[in-house]
This record gives sequence, structure tokens and C-alpha cells, in this order.
Amino acid sequence: MANVTADRLSQARRALLAEISAEIKDPRVVEAIARVPREEFVPEEVRQSSYENMPLPIGYGQTISQPLIVAMMTEALLLNGSEKVLEIGTGSGYQTALLSQLAERVVTVERIPPLAERAARVLGRLGYDNIEVHAGGDGLGWPEEAPYDAIIVTAAAPEVPRELLEQLGRGGRLVIPVGSRELQELVRIVKTPEGALRHNLGPCRFVPLLGRSAWPGYAGD
Ligand code: SAH
Repeated sequence: MANVTADRLSQARRALLAEISAEIKDPRVVEAIARVPREEFVPEEVRQSSYENMPLPIGYGQTISQPLIVAMMTEALLLNGSEKVLEIGTGSGYQTALLSQLAERVVTVERIPPLAERAARVLGRLGYDNIEVHAGGDGLGWPEEAPYDAIIVTAAAPEVPRELLEQLGRGGRLVIPVGSRELQELVRIVKTPEGALRHNLGPCRFVPLLGRSAWPGYAGD
């Protein structure tokens, strides 16, 4: 029985990797996706769906994002391995694990403490050792360790939060879903001496950012 499940998972894993390889050009990103076991980051009851190309519930009203979107966002950060990266929204820790393979160091912040604890535990057990997980408070991001070479926000915001632009170093990239509560555009901001350059990368749909810089009703005040 366990073997049947394992076979199905590895078959689904190969199929998903083929689907992602068709869309993602950066070989380092594809390699990282091939290496990180998504099934370790999802709750037991949805484990059989680990390699479906869809978001899955992880508890507390949150989701692990759709694999193809995770791959696109990761590619959009233009990482070469030397960077200090900030992630807002650790969630399951899956995106964090990918980033740890592609950057020098990852600082990740999660607003829901039990999710932060669970992700830290899984990441530690799997041996990812260049990651710092923080249970975030009221402010957005982690200014203590700014500036960052890249910042990724895995929850949607009504607009690009100024607090995050301030934590981005010169030449740094910020990738974030921005738009309405129902539908967002994935956006990359590059911080240049001339100002912030914006590239639109396509439509997407994320769970809302919580706390400061969120839509009214999600700010928790
Ligand atoms: N990258 C995660 C996505 C999780 S969903 C994964 O693939 O598993 C987005 C997460 O962002 C949720 O866990 C939510 O609690 C968290 N979040 C929302 N607003 C936040 C904020 N202001 N600071 C930190 N984390 C936040």
C-alpha cells in the first residue's frame, strides 16, 4: 500500500517537473524544484496531491502556493546564489526551501506563529541550514537585516508596500502580487538609482497579506 502511494507520488512528481520545465527557462530554478520534496511541506491528509499543480490547504486559512506560480516567482527574483533574500509569508516553508537552494541566505517571516514553528521544524529536519525563520509581529518584513538583494511576498497586497521598498538594496528585486482581493498581477520591482522600475509578469491569485499594508479588513486592527 505504502509502495503504491510512493509510486504514484513519484510519477506525479515527474509529470509536474515536465510541466514546469516547459515554462521555466532558468535551469537552476528547475533543478531546485526537482530537488525539494513538496510532500514534506503539506499536511498528511493532502499528501497524495503534493505534485498536483495546484495550491493546497496548510491550515489556519492559508495555502501552499501552486507549484508553477512558485517557480515563476522564484525565477523572477533573478538569483545567482550570492544573495540575501527576504521572504514574507513562510507558510509551509516550501518556497523557503527553494530559495535556500538558490541564494546565500534566506530570512523568512510568517505572521501566524504555529505556521512559522512548523515550517522551521520541517526545514531543520530536512537539513536546510541557511534559513532564519521569524514569527513576524506588526511591521512588514524584517528591517533588522535589511538591505536585501531580493524580496518575495507570497501573499497579495493592494499596492507595493513602501516598507518593503525601503528594505531592498540598490539593484534589488521585489516580487509581489498586487491588485484587488480577487485578482492580482504578479509584479517585479527593480530598485535602481533612477527609481523603482516595474515589470508586470502576469495575472495570479493569492491569499491576502495580513497586518500593515493589507486591504482594509485584513489589517487585524
Ligand atoms: N510561501 C508559502 C505561501 C503561504 S500563503 C508556501 O508556499 O507555503 C501566505 C502566507 O503569508 C500565510 O502563511 C500567511 O499567514 C502569511 N502572511 C500574510 N501576511 C503576512 C505578513 N504581513 N507578514 C508575514 N507573513 C504573512
